[in-house]
Amino acid sequence: MVFNTLAEALTIIQALESANTSICITDTDHKIIYESSKSGYKLNLSPDHLNKLETGFYHSANAAFRVLLNDNSLTTITTLPVLIAGRPYSLEFKQLIRQNTYFSLESYHFENLSIHQIKEMAITDSLTKLYNRRYIDERLPIDIQSSFELARPLSILFIDIDYFKKINDQNGHAAGDQVLQKLALLLQKQLRRGSGWVARYGGDELLICLPGSGKKVARSIANRLREAIEHCPFYFKGKAINITCSIGVQTIFKDSGVVNIAELIAMADHNLYQAKNEGRNKVH
Ligand code: GH3
Ligand code: MG
Repeated sequence: MVFNTLAEALTIIQALESANTSICITDTDHKIIYESSKSGYKLNLSPDHLNKLETGFYHSANAAFRVLLNDNSLTTITTLPVLIAGRPYSLEFKQLIRQNTYFSLESYHFENLSIHQIKEMAITDSLTKLYNRRYIDERLPIDIQSSFELARPLSILFIDIDYFKKINDQNGHAAGDQVLQKLALLLQKQLRRGSGWVARYGGDELLICLPGSGKKVARSIANRLREAIEHCPFYFKGKAINITCSIGVQTIFKDSGVVNIAELIAMADHNLYQAKNEGRNKVH
C-alpha cells in the first residue's frame, strides 16, 4: 500500500475504523503520532512528523500479531511496519474481542495454542470452517483499497440459500448444518485458486470477494456457482437433498463513490433481494 499524503492515509484508516477498536501510528520510540478509536481520534504530529507523513507510506513485508488476555476480554493487536519517507513507523490495529460475542474464553485453553492458532480461530466460522464475519470486516476494506490503488475493479457475491428454513424443517437442523458445510466446500472448490475468498456472513448467507474481477466476470462466476449448487445433491444419512441459491452481485471501481464495506454489502444485499424476487435460483 502506498499513500501519497497524510490525508489519503487517514481516509484509509478511517475506513478501517469500523472493524477495529482503535488504530494508531507510532514512531520507533513507540510515541503515538496518530490514534483513532470508537470515541474519536487524536493527532499528535510535530511539524517534522507532518513533513514526513505528507511524503508517503510504504508497507514493508512483515506484520506482527499479539494477543492480550485479561479477565473479561481478549484483544488482538496487528502491527504493520510502514516506511514513511524512508523512516520506520508502525501502524497498529487493535481489536477488542468481547467475551460471548465470538467465543467464550473459558472454553479454550489459550496457553496451549500458538498465536497463529488463536488468530485463525478468531477469523474462522466454527461450523463451515470458512472465514467469518470478523475476517470480512478486516479484509474487505484492505482488498478494496488495494484494488483501487491498482485501478482494478472489485466484486462481491452475496449468496443466500433458497428456502433454507424448509430444508431444516423437513430434514432436521443437523441436515441443515451439513448442507452448509458441504456448500462451503463446494464453493471453495469451484472458486479458482487466487481469484478470491469465501466467508460466512451469517446464517445461510455467504460472501465471496473477487478482487480484480469486473461485472462480467463476477456475473459469470456467480452463474457457474449457482448452476454447480443446483446440480449437486447434498447427502444426509443417505438421502439426497437438493438446494438452490440466489446471488446478488456488486462491482465497484475507484470512482464508484463507495467508501465503506457496509455500503458495498448493502448494495449486494439489495441485488440479492432482487434475485429472490425474480423467483430464486437467480443471479442479479
Ligand atoms: P429465502 O432465503 O429463500 O427467502 O428463505 P429462507 O428459508 O432461507 O429464509 P431465511 O434466509 O430468512 O432463513 C434462514 C434460515 O437459516 C433460518 C435459520 O433457521 C437457518 N439457519 C441459520 N443458521 C443456521 C445454521 O447454522 N444451521 C442450520 N441448520 N440452520 C441455520
Ligand atoms: Mg435463505
